[in-house]
Amino acid sequence: MILSSSAVRILIFCLLLFPCQNALFAGGLLQVRGIPRQGSLMVGEVSEEVESVFLDYKPIAISQNKFYLGFDRDEPLEHRLTIVLQNGKILTSIIELTCADYEIEQITLQEERFSTSVQDPETSRRIEMERQTMQESKKNALLLEERFTDFFIRPVPQQTITGSFGAQRIVNGVPSAPHNGIDIAAPRGTPVKTMADGIVMLCGEYFYQGNFVIIYHGHGLTSSYYHLDRCNVEVGMRVEVGEMIGEVGSSGRSTGAHLHWGIEWCGRRINPESLLELSQLFLVVRE
Ligand SMILES: [Zn+2]
Repeated sequence: MILSSSAVRILIFCLLLFPCQNALFAGGLLQVRGIPRQGSLMVGEVSEEVESVFLDYKPIAISQNKFYLGFDRDEPLEHRLTIVLQNGKILTSIIELTCADYEIEQITLQEERFSTSVQDPETSRRIEMERQTMQESKKNALLLEERFTDFFIRPVPQQTITGSFGAQRIVNGVPSAPHNGIDIAAPRGTPVKTMADGIVMLCGEYFYQGNFVIIYHGHGLTSSYYHLDRCNVEVGMRVEVGEMIGEVGSSGRSTGAHLHWGIEWCGRRINPESLLELSQLFLVVRE
């Protein structure tokens, strides 16, 4: 059976009318939770009859019958989700993402700090080395085996978001890379907690990030916490959801005390807020 995009829409409509998740999944082969939007992380769950899952023809790691589906900030809007059953049958459905709207943020940095980052060769070398170390640690993390987790919390209790995900930043009049996370305002010293179980992949003190911690949660998912006043963890440490990993600060390239919370899935930039929307059922596939 192949589900066309119009069939998926009808299915979604039915789900909105009958939002009883467990009953629907009882007869289903696959269900996907989350908001289908650029920058979203979604979580899929398959029944025992499913052997493998593919997103746009690429295999997805499944653990305890669950898997992540992540979509980058600038992801194309149409994607193909395919499941292969143990009896050899292949089912396909189309996921249509909604387009995310990104803000344009004007940021002013002190001249000294701004010019140091773009002119001083010593600083440029440091930034390049730090960028490479980060890339290497991401590659190494993908080799780690971790349990699947879909229980996520906010790392700080505050709700005031001062920098939105995906915003196109213009620093001192010069366009820079889009903002790959959210900034949450919080007083200096506020405890920062890990959003989920995982292992500390990298931490240290970098030019842009200041004191930072990056945690690997398994299956290609990482979370990062920048501009900390201090870090409480070391590389290789195992952490449990809610464990304190540092304190809010304004280290690195920062204009005031806040937490920069970023997430990536297999190199795709994910909006952290999408993790808090995972309770919403998006798609159920039945034979
Ligand atoms: Zn930020």
